[in-house]
Amino acid sequence: MSELAMRAEKLDAADELRGKRDGFVLDEVVYLDGNSLGALPAVVSGRVEDVVRRQWGELRIRSWEESGWWTAPERIGDRIAPLVGAAPGQIVVGDSTSVNVFKALVGAVRMAGEGRDEILVDATTFPTDGYIAESAARMTGRTLRPVAPADVPGALGGRTAAVLLNHVDYRTGRLHDLPALTAAVHAAGAYAVWDLCHSAGALPVGLDEHGVDLAVGCTYKYLNGGPGSPAYLYVRRELQDRFDSPLPGWNSHAEPFGMRGGYEPAPGALRGRVGTPDILSMLALEAALEVWDGVPVEAVRAKSLALTDFFLECVAAYVPEGRVECLTPAPHAERGSQIALRCDDAGDVMKRLVEAGVVGDFRAPDVLRFGFTPLYVGFADVERAARVLARTLG
Ligand SMILES: *Cc1c(COP(=O)(O)O)cnc(C)c1O
Repeated sequence: MSELAMRAEKLDAADELRGKRDGFVLDEVVYLDGNSLGALPAVVSGRVEDVVRRQWGELRIRSWEESGWWTAPERIGDRIAPLVGAAPGQIVVGDSTSVNVFKALVGAVRMAGEGRDEILVDATTFPTDGYIAESAARMTGRTLRPVAPADVPGALGGRTAAVLLNHVDYRTGRLHDLPALTAAVHAAGAYAVWDLCHSAGALPVGLDEHGVDLAVGCTYKYLNGGPGSPAYLYVRRELQDRFDSPLPGWNSHAEPFGMRGGYEPAPGALRGRVGTPDILSMLALEAALEVWDGVPVEAVRAKSLALTDFFLECVAAYVPEGRVECLTPAPHAERGSQIALRCDDAGDVMKRLVEAGVVGDFRAPDVLRFGFTPLYVGFADVERAARVLARTLG
């Protein structure tokens, strides 16, 4: 056994989160794609079966009340809240991240008022945010300016209405400085909207602490909610009365069953709701969130950094120098929970890696992505992944 393999065994033995792995359905594969689709928590299948057979099959319409279906969006929002550093009453679950980006960004622009005619968007953003920001700018008569996150402070000014940023870059795994950037946006009198898709469930976010205005995120990556599970929208408490959703559906009406002709928004986070929630996905997510019971986000972050450090060390030891280039920043303060390696034949390499039982993913044109989900990935997995990668790279 190699020195690194022995170290991996020791690290696994000392890992306080090790037991969490038993809460997931796993096999022999080293699964490093939880930043794209989280693994299945064992509790989910039975819960979904109960929701389908009993709540839907037997109780039928009564379940909207008796099974808590109607209040699920805000109840599950409150369950996610501690994972992103939010007090209760500020998050609703529903719709996709894309749809919530639209609600949050247009809502922010409306709060900023007429005098501010520019929207800044992360130039390196996940594509959907950029597309939606472009449409939101067109609809609200604002100009959209793509800016690299590091250049945002210099680009802010009296014209800026809102800034849409990704907390962690989906491609490189770079973690942006949410506290400093949010403070800079506020100093310019603008509103900060953060996309947390690659940070919630992987590292502390501190939404309340840092005064973030609006935030969105998906639940099928590090939160393991299942394919297409609903996203969430955070609206800071002090802004909720002014949040004017561009998608005011009957579910966010002050009196949804009043069936009124005119729209009057509900108070609080409920305003972020639109139409009838997708209950099956939502309750699968609610069950999936149980794996976080008693897990401090700080412990998750500590293990995540230890995993990515160890992976980089194993890659350096096993892979010939110059064969891959690491795109993920080395400083912990700038690293999310994934490692991105660049190599010309990345597409082919990932195909062979998957065949060899190590699942990461490929992002065109030349990036190998490896996501490290601290609840179910261990150090022996990491060592094996690097070893198989070295062999695959030949
Ligand atoms: C995964 C991801 C999304 C996905 O949006 P969907 O509407 O769920 O398809 C959006 N933004 C970022 C930054 C992501 O990483």
